Amino acid sequence: MGPELTETQVLHLWETGAGHAPPARALLLAETVAPPGEDVGDLPLSELNALLLDLREGSFGAALPCAADCPNCDEPLEVTVTADELRAPGRRNIPGPSRAPLTLRAEGYEVVYRPLTGRDLLAIDPASPEARRVLLSRCVLASEPGGDPLPEKVLERIAQRLADVDPGADTVLSLACPYCRHPWAAALDVAAYLWAEVEGCARRLLHEVHTLARVYGWSESEVLAVSPARRRFYLEATAG
Ligand SMILES: [Zn+2]
Repeated sequence: MGPELTETQVLHLWETGAGHAPPARALLLAETVAPPGEDVGDLPLSELNALLLDLREGSFGAALPCAADCPNCDEPLEVTVTADELRAPGRRNIPGPSRAPLTLRAEGYEVVYRPLTGRDLLAIDPASPEARRVLLSRCVLASEPGGDPLPEKVLERIAQRLADVDPGADTVLSLACPYCRHPWAAALDVAAYLWAEVEGCARRLLHEVHTLARVYGWSESEVLAVSPARRRFYLEATAG
């Protein structure tokens, strides 16, 4: 069981993250569970996802209901995956083998590189045609020979390696259509998923504040100081 977001944190996250791009929201969420002193922006994406999955599990449970359309027969499917199914195997409690710099020899170059981090995603403009190149270049710590930008071919070799050196950077579901049996892999963005839930939870809370403040004349902090169980009672009483 992971850490649970408090109501205060939910409201704070919603307020701080509104208007920010998805990578910034992912980091905001992860910051709430990161060990003190850990800069979540520097974590390999798999470790960032692991934190987000812990937070999701602790705050909203281990089951993640998802909707997807079969790419073969278009049938809409509802599947529920568990946080464990989304965790990369062996990802937990391993002190980041993926954090050590890695070496690649290709096309006459020797390149020292590292896995992608949340800060990399934050730094790029996803709409730019250069986004992929910029992203991959950020992984390069050193190259021999240095100087000029690395050829596209070398960067693509790094891209191919990234999935192996940081399994769990992409959380992927293996799905099979119950109607046509077509199997496929669907990406699930844990940060976006969790953000939508935080947003929903914040809106629900604010509605509760609004209703109770109006009926009883309480202030926002007074409403939030009432326990969720008692608040439910008052809300029911108000509705009835
Ligand atoms: Zn199908």
